[in-house]
Amino acid sequence: MGNNTAEFLISLGRGCADMSGCEHLIDLVNVDKVFGQTTVLNNINLYIRRNEFLTLLGPSGCGKTTTLRIIGGFEYPTQGDVIFEGKSILKLPPYRRHVNTVFQKYALFPNMNVAENIAFGLKIKKMSGSVISEKVEAMLKLVNLSGYGKRSVASLSGGQQQRVAIARALVNEPRVLLLDEPLGALDLQLRKEMQIELKNMQRKLGITFIYVTHDQEEALTMSDTVAVMNAGEVQQIGSPEDIYNEPRNAFVANFIGESNILDGRMREDYRVEFADRLFNCVDKGFRDNEPVDVVIRPEDIKIVPASEELLFGTVRNVIFKGVHYEMLIEGAGYLWKAQSTVMSETGCRVGMDIAPDLIHVMRKSEYSVNNETDRADEIGGDMFIRPRRGIYAARVAN
Ligand code: ATP
Repeated sequence: MGNNTAEFLISLGRGCADMSGCEHLIDLVNVDKVFGQTTVLNNINLYIRRNEFLTLLGPSGCGKTTTLRIIGGFEYPTQGDVIFEGKSILKLPPYRRHVNTVFQKYALFPNMNVAENIAFGLKIKKMSGSVISEKVEAMLKLVNLSGYGKRSVASLSGGQQQRVAIARALVNEPRVLLLDEPLGALDLQLRKEMQIELKNMQRKLGITFIYVTHDQEEALTMSDTVAVMNAGEVQQIGSPEDIYNEPRNAFVANFIGESNILDGRMREDYRVEFADRLFNCVDKGFRDNEPVDVVIRPEDIKIVPASEELLFGTVRNVIFKGVHYEMLIEGAGYLWKAQSTVMSETGCRVGMDIAPDLIHVMRKSEYSVNNETDRADEIGGDMFIRPRRGIYAARVAN
């Protein structure tokens, strides 16, 4: 890989782009995909390590499934390469790629029972009956369906059917399992249980999982590594903690959890101005006076007694969320979202304390510029301008 790619990956937060130094299993190199006139993948550079649980996370239509299909061999990139253990696999058909796929619509064979569904791939490989039975039993045990072999698939619940689909893919002992929103059709409780089961299976089997979802909580719960995508581009790659705590741009900050996103100006290293005040921060390396996005998580705003030394505002709305109260606070020309375990009454004046390391400064991106104020909300009789996708803090309308 060239230096440009290395620098690009470093800029996304995935430093080691040199295949010799990493346990790379798969490398996507400068992958583009164009359908008709539409570019749906734009220069995707991504590597997946052996035994890694990597999730492609992003909004609908951002190109996750297309990326997965290119890895699986169901789609051919317009440009770029797919490397498996150092060799291009572009010319290999899906069945010769050491990968198996589990789709959201699991498409089990309705005329076969559970065991026959799982055994299907092994029969095609002409394995002996005893070996097949042994492997099927082991798979049933793995997916918690021991004793279900003779049941018809139609008699199973959605979660059980999905487990059969996973067993059917895993029994072929793929090096990589591709999972395209496999839990999308399940209800929330079952989904959460299956998330844990899948993660445990992956650890136990030591297989590389590449998982597609638009559910950020699912991605953070299950993955070793998350690649956040938007509009055909990878925005950031990193551990769930990195992605959540150190988002690279306003899109990632807003997609992964809620954020107050404000216009700011970097005065100098470690000093940023926003909401008409100067704050200490931990960021550096910007031009003096560079316009920036300042991202502050609602849970990082500490509600304290109002004082002139701090940001302060008036509570406009309070919602009890179970573990905390969520408040909308109008102050310094913005509508802030904050969380606190202590309730403040609507109409109350409160101070907002933000520690320097909880102020995230990032370069202005196309996303933040495109999502500038365009919608008005009425809260407590006043009009507030709110950007698309519910980003706070919104500017207060004049
Ligand atoms: P979702 O979460 O909704 O499944 P996604 O992130 O997986 O979305 P893709 O399915 O990869 O997105 O689709 C990316 C874009 O490519 C979409 O705009 C989609 O309509 C388009 N696309 C995908 N496959 C084709 C195709 N065969 N022909 C034309 N356009 C396609």
